[in-house]
Amino acid sequence: MAGVGIPKLANVSGRATLLWREGYADVAQLSGGRFPYDPQGLLSDWDRFESWAQGAEPQISGSPDFRLLGPPAPRPRQIFAIGLNYRDHAAEAGYDTSGLPQVFTKFPSCLTGPFSQVSVLSPKLDWETELVVVLGRTGRNIKEGEAWSFVAGLMVGQDLSARDVQLAGSAPQWSLGKSFAGFGPTGPWITSAKYCGNRDDLLVQCELNGELMQSDRTSNMIWSVSELVARLSVVCELMAGDLIFTGTPTGNGNRRTPPRYLGPGDRLLSRIGGLGEMVNEFVSPGVCAIN
Ligand code: ZN
Repeated sequence: MAGVGIPKLANVSGRATLLWREGYADVAQLSGGRFPYDPQGLLSDWDRFESWAQGAEPQISGSPDFRLLGPPAPRPRQIFAIGLNYRDHAAEAGYDTSGLPQVFTKFPSCLTGPFSQVSVLSPKLDWETELVVVLGRTGRNIKEGEAWSFVAGLMVGQDLSARDVQLAGSAPQWSLGKSFAGFGPTGPWITSAKYCGNRDDLLVQCELNGELMQSDRTSNMIWSVSELVARLSVVCELMAGDLIFTGTPTGNGNRRTPPRYLGPGDRLLSRIGGLGEMVNEFVSPGVCAIN
Protein backbone atom coordinates (compact mmCIF):
# COMPACT_ATOMS: atom_id res chain seq x y z
CA MET A 1 0.00 0.00 0.00
CA ALA A 2 1.88 3.07 -1.22
CA GLY A 3 1.31 6.27 0.74
CA VAL A 4 0.42 9.36 -1.23
CA GLY A 5 1.95 12.63 -0.10
CA ILE A 6 3.68 13.48 3.13
CA PRO A 7 2.00 11.92 6.17
CA LYS A 8 0.66 13.87 9.14
CA LEU A 9 1.71 12.99 12.68
CA ALA A 10 -1.09 12.28 15.13
CA ASN A 11 -1.38 11.08 18.71
CA VAL A 12 -3.76 8.11 18.74
CA SER A 13 -4.37 6.90 22.32
CA GLY A 14 -0.91 8.15 23.30
CA ARG A 15 0.91 6.50 20.37
CA ALA A 16 2.61 8.40 17.56
CA THR A 17 0.73 7.55 14.38
CA LEU A 18 1.32 8.52 10.77
CA LEU A 19 -1.78 9.42 8.77
CA TRP A 20 -2.15 9.37 5.00
CA ARG A 21 -5.31 9.95 3.02
CA GLU A 22 -5.69 6.21 2.44
CA GLY A 23 -4.47 4.70 5.68
CA TYR A 24 -2.35 4.97 8.79
CA ALA A 25 0.55 3.34 10.64
CA ASP A 26 1.85 3.11 14.19
CA VAL A 27 5.30 4.74 14.20
CA ALA A 28 6.99 2.43 16.73
CA GLN A 29 5.69 -0.72 15.02
CA LEU A 30 6.43 0.41 11.49
CA SER A 31 9.94 1.55 12.37
CA GLY A 32 10.68 -1.63 14.34
CA GLY A 33 11.35 0.45 17.45
CA ARG A 34 13.75 2.85 15.77
CA PHE A 35 11.42 5.66 16.80
CA PRO A 36 9.53 5.78 20.11
CA TYR A 37 5.78 5.34 20.51
CA ASP A 38 5.62 8.59 22.49
CA PRO A 39 4.67 11.51 20.18
CA GLN A 40 6.57 14.00 22.35
CA GLY A 41 9.74 11.88 22.10
CA LEU A 42 9.68 12.05 18.30
CA LEU A 43 9.89 15.82 18.35
CA SER A 44 13.40 15.66 19.86
CA ASP A 45 14.55 13.71 16.83
CA TRP A 46 12.42 15.47 14.24
CA ASP A 47 14.78 15.81 11.27
CA ARG A 48 15.71 12.10 11.30
CA PHE A 49 12.09 11.11 11.86
CA GLU A 50 10.83 13.30 9.04
CA SER A 51 13.23 11.86 6.48
CA TRP A 52 12.26 8.34 7.53
CA ALA A 53 8.52 9.15 7.39
CA GLN A 54 8.77 10.29 3.77
CA GLY A 55 9.48 6.72 2.70
CA ALA A 56 6.98 5.07 5.06
CA GLU A 57 3.74 3.44 3.94
CA PRO A 58 0.38 2.88 5.63
CA GLN A 59 -0.17 -0.41 7.47
CA ILE A 60 -3.92 -0.15 7.95
CA SER A 61 -6.57 1.18 5.56
CA GLY A 62 -8.94 3.99 6.46
CA SER A 63 -8.63 6.31 9.45
CA PRO A 64 -8.27 5.71 13.18
CA ASP A 65 -11.22 6.64 15.39
CA PHE A 66 -10.84 10.43 15.68
CA ARG A 67 -12.29 10.34 19.19
CA LEU A 68 -9.01 8.68 20.23
CA LEU A 69 -6.85 11.58 19.06
CA GLY A 70 -4.88 13.27 21.81
CA PRO A 71 -2.76 16.43 21.66
CA PRO A 72 -0.05 15.80 19.03
CA ALA A 73 2.63 17.29 21.32
CA PRO A 74 1.27 16.24 24.72
CA ARG A 75 4.07 17.34 27.07
CA PRO A 76 5.99 20.36 25.77
CA ARG A 77 8.50 21.80 28.20
CA GLN A 78 7.41 25.31 27.30
CA ILE A 79 4.31 26.83 25.74
CA PHE A 80 4.57 30.41 24.53
CA ALA A 81 1.38 32.26 23.72
CA ILE A 82 1.14 35.60 21.97
CA GLY A 83 -1.50 38.19 22.77
CA LEU A 84 -2.99 40.64 20.28
CA ASN A 85 -1.06 39.52 17.22
CA TYR A 86 -3.66 40.32 14.53
CA ARG A 87 -4.03 43.90 13.39
CA ASP A 88 -7.84 44.04 13.75
CA HIS A 89 -7.85 42.37 17.16
CA ALA A 90 -5.08 44.66 18.47
CA ALA A 91 -6.93 47.71 17.16
CA GLU A 92 -10.23 46.77 18.84
CA ALA A 93 -8.37 46.24 22.13
CA GLY A 94 -6.72 49.67 21.74
CA TYR A 95 -3.29 48.07 21.90
CA ASP A 96 -0.06 49.76 20.90
CA THR A 97 1.68 47.35 18.53
CA SER A 98 5.17 48.79 18.75
CA GLY A 99 7.81 47.05 20.85
CA LEU A 100 7.92 43.37 21.80
CA PRO A 101 5.01 40.98 21.34
CA GLN A 102 2.80 40.37 24.38
CA VAL A 103 3.89 36.95 25.66
CA PHE A 104 2.34 34.69 28.31
CA THR A 105 2.12 30.93 28.84
CA LYS A 106 -0.52 28.29 28.87
CA PHE A 107 0.68 25.79 31.46
CA PRO A 108 1.11 22.41 29.71
CA SER A 109 -1.43 20.61 31.92
CA CYS A 110 -4.20 22.47 30.04
CA LEU A 111 -3.52 20.59 26.79
CA THR A 112 -6.22 18.32 25.43
CA GLY A 113 -7.08 16.59 22.18
CA PRO A 114 -8.78 17.95 19.07
CA PHE A 115 -12.14 16.24 19.64
CA SER A 116 -12.28 16.26 23.44
CA GLN A 117 -15.05 17.50 25.67
CA VAL A 118 -14.18 20.55 27.73
CA SER A 119 -15.76 21.35 31.10
CA VAL A 120 -17.24 24.80 31.41
CA LEU A 121 -15.14 25.89 34.38
CA SER A 122 -15.85 29.60 34.03
CA PRO A 123 -18.98 31.73 33.50
CA LYS A 124 -16.93 33.75 31.00
CA LEU A 125 -15.32 31.01 28.93
CA ASP A 126 -14.18 32.41 25.59
CA TRP A 127 -12.65 31.03 22.39
CA GLU A 128 -9.45 32.06 20.57
CA THR A 129 -8.61 30.06 17.45
CA GLU A 130 -4.88 30.11 16.72
CA LEU A 131 -2.12 28.75 14.56
CA VAL A 132 0.16 26.68 16.80
CA VAL A 133 3.86 26.23 15.94
CA VAL A 134 5.62 23.03 17.05
CA LEU A 135 9.38 23.38 17.48
CA GLY A 136 11.53 20.59 16.07
CA ARG A 137 14.99 21.84 17.01
CA THR A 138 16.54 23.51 20.03
CA GLY A 139 18.23 26.89 19.86
CA ARG A 140 18.89 30.39 21.15
CA ASN A 141 19.31 33.62 19.20
CA ILE A 142 17.77 32.07 16.11
CA LYS A 143 18.00 34.31 13.06
CA GLU A 144 14.71 35.21 11.44
CA GLY A 145 15.91 33.85 8.10
CA GLU A 146 16.62 30.44 9.68
CA ALA A 147 13.57 30.31 11.92
CA TRP A 148 11.46 27.96 9.80
CA SER A 149 14.21 25.31 9.94
CA PHE A 150 13.57 25.13 13.72
CA VAL A 151 9.86 24.46 13.18
CA ALA A 152 8.74 20.82 12.98
CA GLY A 153 5.21 21.58 11.96
CA LEU A 154 1.98 23.45 12.38
CA MET A 155 -1.39 22.63 13.89
CA VAL A 156 -4.66 24.17 15.02
CA GLY A 157 -5.10 25.37 18.60
CA GLN A 158 -7.73 26.88 20.85
CA ASP A 159 -6.50 29.30 23.49
CA LEU A 160 -9.60 28.89 25.67
CA SER A 161 -9.77 31.68 28.22
CA ALA A 162 -11.66 32.29 31.48
CA ARG A 163 -12.14 36.05 31.12
CA ASP A 164 -13.31 36.37 34.73
CA VAL A 165 -9.98 35.00 36.03
CA GLN A 166 -7.88 36.65 33.33
CA LEU A 167 -9.24 40.10 34.09
CA ALA A 168 -9.64 39.82 37.87
CA GLY A 169 -7.45 42.15 39.90
CA SER A 170 -5.61 45.27 38.86
CA ALA A 171 -3.15 43.54 36.48
CA PRO A 172 -4.21 40.91 33.95
CA GLN A 173 -3.84 37.28 35.02
CA TRP A 174 -3.34 35.89 31.51
CA SER A 175 -1.49 32.64 32.13
CA LEU A 176 -3.73 31.27 34.89
CA GLY A 177 -6.91 32.40 33.18
CA LYS A 178 -5.94 30.34 30.14
CA SER A 179 -4.71 27.18 31.88
CA PHE A 180 -7.71 25.41 33.39
CA ALA A 181 -8.11 21.70 32.53
CA GLY A 182 -8.94 21.28 28.86
CA PHE A 183 -8.26 24.92 27.94
CA GLY A 184 -5.65 23.96 25.33
CA PRO A 185 -7.18 21.82 22.56
CA THR A 186 -4.55 21.19 19.85
CA GLY A 187 -4.42 19.12 16.69
CA PRO A 188 -5.91 17.40 14.88
CA TRP A 189 -2.36 16.42 13.86
CA ILE A 190 1.02 18.00 13.06
CA THR A 191 1.49 19.00 9.43
CA SER A 192 5.14 19.29 8.45
CA ALA A 193 6.20 22.91 8.00
CA LYS A 194 8.52 21.95 5.19
CA TYR A 195 5.67 20.77 2.99
CA CYS A 196 3.13 23.44 3.87
CA GLY A 197 3.42 25.70 0.80
CA ASN A 198 1.58 28.81 1.97
CA ARG A 199 2.67 28.52 5.61
CA ASP A 200 2.73 32.32 6.10
CA ASP A 201 -0.77 32.84 4.69
CA LEU A 202 -3.20 30.30 6.19
CA LEU A 203 -6.93 30.83 6.66
CA VAL A 204 -7.90 30.64 10.35
CA GLN A 205 -11.59 30.12 11.10
CA CYS A 206 -13.83 29.38 14.04
CA GLU A 207 -17.48 28.34 14.07
CA LEU A 208 -19.69 28.20 17.14
CA ASN A 209 -22.69 25.90 16.65
CA GLY A 210 -22.30 26.33 12.89
CA GLU A 211 -22.04 30.15 12.95
CA LEU A 212 -18.81 31.71 11.69
CA MET A 213 -17.19 33.67 14.53
CA GLN A 214 -13.60 34.24 13.38
CA SER A 215 -12.03 34.35 9.93
CA ASP A 216 -8.66 35.86 9.07
CA ARG A 217 -5.39 34.92 7.47
CA THR A 218 -2.08 34.41 9.23
CA SER A 219 -0.54 36.89 6.76
CA ASN A 220 -2.34 39.53 8.90
CA MET A 221 -0.32 38.67 11.99
CA ILE A 222 1.71 41.58 13.33
CA TRP A 223 4.62 39.26 14.19
CA SER A 224 5.06 36.40 11.71
CA VAL A 225 6.09 32.90 12.74
CA SER A 226 9.73 33.63 11.81
CA GLU A 227 9.73 36.88 13.79
CA LEU A 228 8.20 35.19 16.83
CA VAL A 229 10.77 32.38 16.81
CA ALA A 230 13.59 34.91 16.46
CA ARG A 231 12.33 37.30 19.15
CA LEU A 232 11.42 34.63 21.70
CA SER A 233 14.78 32.91 21.24
CA VAL A 234 16.64 36.10 22.18
CA VAL A 235 15.33 35.64 25.73
CA CYS A 236 14.51 31.94 26.08
CA GLU A 237 16.12 28.80 24.75
CA LEU A 238 13.49 27.26 22.49
CA MET A 239 13.42 23.50 22.86
CA ALA A 240 12.32 20.79 20.45
CA GLY A 241 8.73 19.94 21.26
CA ASP A 242 7.83 23.40 22.57
CA LEU A 243 4.68 25.12 21.30
CA ILE A 244 3.94 28.69 20.28
CA PHE A 245 0.27 29.77 20.21
CA THR A 246 0.59 32.65 17.75
CA GLY A 247 -2.42 34.78 18.72
CA THR A 248 -6.03 35.00 17.62
CA PRO A 249 -7.93 37.08 15.06
CA THR A 250 -10.82 39.34 15.96
CA GLY A 251 -14.21 37.76 16.72
CA ASN A 252 -13.91 36.49 20.31
CA GLY A 253 -16.97 36.29 22.54
CA ASN A 254 -16.01 39.03 25.01
CA ARG A 255 -15.81 41.68 22.28
CA ARG A 256 -19.36 41.03 21.08
CA THR A 257 -22.42 43.03 21.99
CA PRO A 258 -23.75 41.50 24.10
CA PRO A 259 -20.77 39.29 25.03
CA ARG A 260 -21.12 35.62 24.11
CA TYR A 261 -19.51 32.96 26.28
CA LEU A 262 -19.30 29.18 25.93
CA GLY A 263 -21.72 27.00 27.88
CA PRO A 264 -22.77 23.36 28.15
CA GLY A 265 -24.00 21.99 24.80
CA ASP A 266 -21.93 24.39 22.67
CA ARG A 267 -19.91 22.95 19.81
CA LEU A 268 -16.78 24.81 18.72
CA LEU A 269 -15.15 24.09 15.38
CA SER A 270 -11.62 25.41 14.81
CA ARG A 271 -10.16 25.16 11.32
CA ILE A 272 -6.96 26.21 9.56
CA GLY A 273 -6.64 25.79 5.81
CA GLY A 274 -4.34 22.86 5.02
CA LEU A 275 -3.97 21.84 8.68
CA GLY A 276 -7.40 20.32 9.38
CA GLU A 277 -10.12 21.04 11.90
CA MET A 278 -10.97 20.27 15.52
CA VAL A 279 -14.40 20.04 17.14
CA ASN A 280 -14.65 20.49 20.89
CA GLU A 281 -17.86 20.10 22.83
CA PHE A 282 -18.56 21.90 26.07
CA VAL A 283 -20.08 20.14 29.04
CA SER A 284 -21.05 20.93 32.62
CA PRO A 285 -18.26 20.38 35.14
CA GLY A 286 -18.50 16.88 36.53
CA VAL A 287 -19.69 15.34 33.26
CA CYS A 288 -17.17 12.68 32.26
CA ALA A 289 -14.88 13.97 29.51
CA ILE A 290 -13.54 11.78 26.72
CA ASN A 291 -10.02 13.09 26.92
ZN1 ZN B 1 -4.64 33.67 22.49
